[in-house]
Amino acid sequence: MKCPYCNHQNPSNVTVCICGYKFKGYVESKDQMNLSKKYAILHILKNILWIFLVFHIVGGLIAISNVSQISGIGGYEILIIGIVGIVWIFGLFGIYCAIKIIDFLFELDKNKLTRNDNPHPKG
Ligand SMILES: [Zn+2]
Repeated sequence: MKCPYCNHQNPSNVTVCICGYKFKGYVESKDQMNLSKKYAILHILKNILWIFLVFHIVGGLIAISNVSQISGIGGYEILIIGIVGIVWIFGLFGIYCAIKIIDFLFELDKNKLTRNDNPHPKG
């Protein structure tokens, strides 16, 4: 096992390098790298969500233009349109938040990796 800190070539069964670097931390950082790979499907989901978001906005705009052309709508119809409008806004917000959550998770994983890449050996 090659030490990532001092580049000393150690036997594979050692857990601590001659420089004091603990290989346990190195293995953990490798596991975290797999975490991003393991959830790579989230990148696909993110792209799908972006497409959804575009359709959602375009669909909403078409609906608004159609509704504005309807003449003689009463209080009851306005209430329904209002409810649909609120649901539409929540949908927009929900899709956007889902995209942001995926971004956040990968950012979190990336930050963890960066921290583990700078080991400070003790002893
Ligand atoms: Zn070392």
